[in-house]
This record gives sequence, structure tokens and C-alpha cells, in this order.
Amino acid sequence: MQHRKNSVTESQQKGTVIRFLGTATVVPAAGHDTASFLINDRILVDTGWYAAIKMKTYGVNPMDLEYVFITHCHHDHYIGLPHILFYLRMRKRERPDRPPLKIIGPADDIERVVLLARQFLQTERFPDVECIPDIYPLMPGESYEDDIFRIDTCATRHPVQGLCYRYQDKATGAIFSFTGDTAYSPVIAEHVQESTLLIHEASHGPKEIGEDPAWGHAGAPDAARIALAAEVQQLALIHCPEEQRDAAITSAQMIFPNTFMPEDGQVVTLGVHDPIT
Ligand SMILES: [Zn+2]
Ligand SMILES: [Zn+2]
Repeated sequence: MQHRKNSVTESQQKGTVIRFLGTATVVPAAGHDTASFLINDRILVDTGWYAAIKMKTYGVNPMDLEYVFITHCHHDHYIGLPHILFYLRMRKRERPDRPPLKIIGPADDIERVVLLARQFLQTERFPDVECIPDIYPLMPGESYEDDIFRIDTCATRHPVQGLCYRYQDKATGAIFSFTGDTAYSPVIAEHVQESTLLIHEASHGPKEIGEDPAWGHAGAPDAARIALAAEVQQLALIHCPEEQRDAAITSAQMIFPNTFMPEDGQVVTLGVHDPIT
């Protein structure tokens, strides 16, 4: 419980810290990772391919992780989960009193995916590597709250069940949202109101796609239209093909000027507001 107190204290001093571990689409280029990020270095949102090692690259100890939020259970968003569980077990001696990792994700798939991640580690043969997290399945529309944050979710437009998260940091008052993979969806614009920052996917680069029932992905202009409708302050585009970054930013900024595309390792700090009571 000591770690949770520390995270609140740091948040109060610095604001809410978002650290991008990866920003790429399905298969990252060498040295990059797929879209994933940390909140206050305690919560990991999607695992990318290499989350534990990427955390160490940027000076964050994976042993500090308290939560993993999974937006949806496509491979590029959970493929690093066995690595995280293996890391926590291998370094258990560093922090023997560490509470179990809490994993939040879409109710349709999260329990099965976590079980498969544990099985991938062959725990029946190697019981010493077993690391059993607590799982909190959420249906779109459900919420979760503890003493440091609150999350509210809505459905994304994607071939598997996906959660768009609206996150409120109780220590700083900051509100921001992230979509995971989704096509353009006006429901999301409603859901993310009052967010300082919206982190939205842009798999189709500079192309405007619309509601796209086939693949369930957005272009940068679709993300910009959501940001504009929701009246957020800032839009971050992730999950964009790396060769289309510049064109994607330009196309989004024509609709929503305050758009950027973070680099791997980039840190964004949301200012301290009145704490939520
Ligand atoms: Zn997906
Ligand atoms: Zn994806």
C-alpha cells in the first residue's frame, strides 16, 4: 500500500504524467513498440510487444506497476502480457509484499486472455513462474473506482469488444481519455467530454474513413472530428503507420489544430486541477 501513497504524492506535485512506451500500429519498426503508455508510472495501458523492457528503457521499474488496462484483446494490445507476468515473478524478491497486479479489460475476453498468458508460461511445468493477477472484467458502459482514480467506459467500434476509457485522477483532478482501436464513433465524442487530452487511434493515417464497419479503424481526420465535437483541449494520435505520421498530423490539424503525435518515450503532464472530492 506504500506505493499507492507514493503515487498520489507524486501526482500532486507533478500533475498526471502520461509516458508513451510505444505509438506504432500492429508491427513496430525496430526500436519502437506498438501503442501503449503509462499513467503516473503505475498503470500500464495495453502491453505492446515489449512493455516491461520499454519501461526499463525509460527508467521506470516494472515492479511499480499496480494496474494494467487492456483496451481490447487484439494481439498487438496484449502480446506483452506474459512478459509482464514473468518479469513480476522473476523479480518478486525485490518486493515480496507487493499486492497482486490488477488487470482491467473487456468482459468478453479478458479472463481468457490472462489465463492463456499464464498457461503460455507453462506454469504446470514451472510452478515457480506462476504470477496470478486480480482480474476486473468490464462491459462497455461500466465503471471502476479506487482511492486514486475513476474510469468510465463506453464501447468502441471495432470487430472485438473494446473499451474507450475516460480516466479521472483524484489527486490532480485531471481528466483524459483514450480510445484503443476504433472507427469514427460519435458515442465516443459524447463519452470523453471535459477531457484535457484525447488519445485516439489513427490506423488509416491521413485518410478520412467514417464509421467503417469492416475493419473498425479511424484515420487522423476522423479522430480530429471526435476531438472537435468533444471539445477536448488536445488530441494525441497513436497506432498510425510510421511512414504516414507527417501526413496524418497535417490532415488532423486542418480540423483540430491542437493535434500532436507522440514519440516513443515522450512524456505529457496534465496540470494540477482541483482534486475530485
Ligand atoms: Zn484491434
Ligand atoms: Zn491495434
